[in-house]
Amino acid sequence: MNADTPSTTMTPIFPGSVDAAGQRATLGVMGGGQLGRMFVHAAQRLGYFTAVLEPDAQSPAGLVSHHHIQTSYDDPAGLAQLAHLCQAITTEFENVPAQALQTLAETRPVAPSAAVVGIAQNRIEEKAHFAACAELSGVTCAPYAVIETPDQLQAVQNDRPDLLPGILKTARLGYDGKGQIRVKTVAELATAWTELGGVACVLEKMLPLTAECSVLVARGWDGQVVSFAPQRNVHVDGILAVTHAYEGNMPPALADKARDAAVAIAHHLGYVGVLCVEFFVVEDGSEHGGLVVNEMAPRPHNSGHYTLDACDASQFDLQVHAMAGLPLPQPRQHSPAIMLNLLGDVWFDAAGQPQEPAWGSVLSLPGTHLHLYGKTEARAGRKMGHLTITGPDVASVKDVAHRAAGLLNLPGLDAI
Ligand code: ATP
Ligand code: MG
Repeated sequence: MNADTPSTTMTPIFPGSVDAAGQRATLGVMGGGQLGRMFVHAAQRLGYFTAVLEPDAQSPAGLVSHHHIQTSYDDPAGLAQLAHLCQAITTEFENVPAQALQTLAETRPVAPSAAVVGIAQNRIEEKAHFAACAELSGVTCAPYAVIETPDQLQAVQNDRPDLLPGILKTARLGYDGKGQIRVKTVAELATAWTELGGVACVLEKMLPLTAECSVLVARGWDGQVVSFAPQRNVHVDGILAVTHAYEGNMPPALADKARDAAVAIAHHLGYVGVLCVEFFVVEDGSEHGGLVVNEMAPRPHNSGHYTLDACDASQFDLQVHAMAGLPLPQPRQHSPAIMLNLLGDVWFDAAGQPQEPAWGSVLSLPGTHLHLYGKTEARAGRKMGHLTITGPDVASVKDVAHRAAGLLNLPGLDAI
């Protein structure tokens, strides 16, 4: 598959249109989290009606959508209703049952497809895909071994001692560093595998990271691709804390390589929609040549939230365009930006007592854009919102970000 190979044909669904049966152009999304909410906002701004399928009655996206189908993700009646209401459907999280997307695709255009979401759901398949397109993308993933049986665990000792120290990651359902255990020895590896329930895992070599970055790509039904420049990401305790999005956030040659690799991966998958590819930057002089592909998300991504305020088209705008078969404009970033994630911890003081964050002070700072996701209960580690800081130049953005992070007592202050 390459840029010249259309995935399939797609008649554009124009916003505001009404079909022969009198139905308004409606776009659907599987999942009701914050990514779904921001997708709904983007779709509605263009004039689409929206439908969200999500079991939770109080979900961030369900609360703002025209239609909220409150069923489980694999409920046949719920899926039938979604397909009936919508002219095209997307997803906001990768753990939606691939079979549900397959069912929807029988009657409606679904982007991304069940097949690619299925690959992204499983680290073993995902890594196999990265390996298959390594020549095209110019990047490989970290050295790893599949651990599905006790024999494969044993084989690490004999055949792959180079993988230790490493990280044991469940093949499925990991996010924000969950489902991962760091191991130094074969004994620790065996304990960790038991702790993870003996499920299918990959053991990944621990790499000496100097930085992390990600690239957002949007690819249309006709194979057209646009992309954002790579953003540099700082994680704290396995969760994204800070995203740096401005020219000079990383060496230009590395940025170009990451962007080209992400585009190649999207083409190779025949992907339709917004794809985020995460990369590690490893110490120079290592055998990995600087850039290593980590994983991909078949949807907009936390690290791309700055595009809402710093670009003339956001990752959610492009998600809408791609799924509806509209043209994909090359996005332009008009301001340097830093994004700070707001976890539930911000709603508690040092003694663990609930507190209202210092919004008054934060919002008086120039170029601050607060996004709260409408979640009623703040819990430690729960993504409640984000704050994007834009400004005329990198120095002033960093200065404001530093002050805002200080006011909110955010982690990763030293990384700004
Ligand atoms: P996400 O929330 O992005 O889905 P995840 O739970 O799927 O995260 P990963 O992206 O695989 O997990 O890992 C989380 C973080 O752990 C990475 O961003 C990186 O900081 C660190 N990490 C993961 N794998 C390695 C590795 N092989 N070497 C060094 N650090 C790693
Ligand atoms: Mg990750």
